[in-house]
Amino acid sequence: MDNSSGRSEIIARVENLSKSYGSGSTQVTALSDVSLGIRAGEFTAIMGPSGSGKSTLMHILAGLDTATSGRVWLRSTDITDLDDTELTMLRRRRVGFVFQAFNLVPTLDIEQNILLPFQLDERSPSTTERGWIEQLVDSLGLRERLSHRPHELSGGQQQRVAIARALGSRPELVFADEPTGNLDSRTSREVLSLLAAASSEFGQSIAMVTHDPIAASYADRIIFLADGRVVDDRGRSSASDISRFMLEMETAS
Ligand code: ADP
Ligand code: MG
Repeated sequence: MDNSSGRSEIIARVENLSKSYGSGSTQVTALSDVSLGIRAGEFTAIMGPSGSGKSTLMHILAGLDTATSGRVWLRSTDITDLDDTELTMLRRRRVGFVFQAFNLVPTLDIEQNILLPFQLDERSPSTTERGWIEQLVDSLGLRERLSHRPHELSGGQQQRVAIARALGSRPELVFADEPTGNLDSRTSREVLSLLAAASSEFGQSIAMVTHDPIAASYADRIIFLADGRVVDDRGRSSASDISRFMLEMETAS
């Protein structure tokens, strides 16, 4: 995608965002005056050392946590002051999540877990959506597991179910926090290719937090955070260039 044209729409945006936890001498500033937009249809990686504010930024962009100051938009909706009910409705319709804690429903089998977003939305998948879900199930190696319960699967398999669930309904925006953290390298590559395909084939916008340069090399754009600030924002880069930059960043601090 051409980043210089100024034509790409912004799907999620923060302006002058700051976030602190606690107060007084125990106060921690997780984000300081961050302004950025996630572009529609792009696969964006958010990188930075541990504690740099990546998860906090993602949670606020997704309406799962609130800002201390600054404003947050999903498309043209200013979500800064929405209440929990309004945020839940908005998320259910527009946003998918892949978190490290998989949040699978233990009493449902794998197929039901994958189809849960449709059930919550009180509809059935369309023919195209069924085809995409079948493709996800096969690429993620879940075909033999559809009638199992989450506790019968390994951590990596549960992660793959969470990915199938997040991508299945093709929400316009998907947030993924370290989605390949628990996966072997072959499955990681499958997952990253799926995320890239979700954006290039279906126009889904993906925002992925990672500290893995290989994972970030699949993205169209890489935003680097350090100490709660954006320190770089660049286009697609090789894993070795990303590694070099991460190393420079860590040795500079
Ligand atoms: P990252 O995802 O880049 O590792 P986080 O966004 O999780 O970073 O955290 C940024 C900073 O905010 C860290 O110093 C972390 O300890 C702090 N932090 C995050 N969540 C909380 C919380 N709920 N309470 C207190 N401090 C927090
Ligand atoms: Mg984190």
